[in-house]
Amino acid sequence: MAGVYSYNGQDYQKRTLLSETEGYLLASVVSGAIVSPLPYIGRSFQKQLNRQMHNNHIYRDYFDKAFDISGLKEEGVTLVKAQHANVPAEYKLGLNAAYDPRYRKVIINTDRISAAGFHELGHALNSLKSKYGIKYLAKLRVPGYAIAGLMEYFAIFSRTKPKGAPRNFVDVIEDNCGKIAFLAMMPTVIEEAAASYRGIKLAKNAGINDALIKSMKQIYIKAHATYGGKAVLGGLAVFASRKIMDMFTRPKPIEQTTNYPQEYIF
Ligand SMILES: [Zn+2]
Repeated sequence: MAGVYSYNGQDYQKRTLLSETEGYLLASVVSGAIVSPLPYIGRSFQKQLNRQMHNNHIYRDYFDKAFDISGLKEEGVTLVKAQHANVPAEYKLGLNAAYDPRYRKVIINTDRISAAGFHELGHALNSLKSKYGIKYLAKLRVPGYAIAGLMEYFAIFSRTKPKGAPRNFVDVIEDNCGKIAFLAMMPTVIEEAAASYRGIKLAKNAGINDALIKSMKQIYIKAHATYGGKAVLGGLAVFASRKIMDMFTRPKPIEQTTNYPQEYIF
């Protein structure tokens, strides 16, 4: 029979296109709502960084010192002061800073956000002088986010099988897409935390005072919340989309309304 899935002696009616569309729309709204706090978390980090701008000249002196004592120069790492370099605007304006492992360059506007620079040195240390395989976590960043993004698509596929029907490989991925998305982002969450930890350690070794270390920690915790938040809320959004799509697209059992003996059916 067309539009029917049979499993374990029970027939299931496939769902209509309208039902699938409703599920998709609801999943879009709910997953959008779940990730909606993310921009606020990002802005809270920027605000915290701006609040420390008046101390930038102090951070800058210690940042230069930290770079000198880090041992990174010996590894061929160079410092690109974004305010004087030909780099993308976000770096020039001090809206972003980075460590680029391909060219071993730390790129930062030290006239604006030196406080963030220690964290970037932490990334360089993770990449070049790490124990416990932390450097491999950085390599999982791009594929991890790609997998997490892919899971958003797995979450919105319509279900062709009822609950409990035998599963193939794709079904198993669909069943676990929320968890997979979350786990795929975890290497980055851990590597970012390790970069902050090493950055703060380096700042202490450079001799920066406790009050400024405390402010730096506040900045770094908020920065890290953007990564942690993305993993947690992103994973939840995928999970919720999958649940909603299941509700709207899983084939429904066909109720037996006649009392005919089994052999008269078909
Ligand atoms: Zn980072």
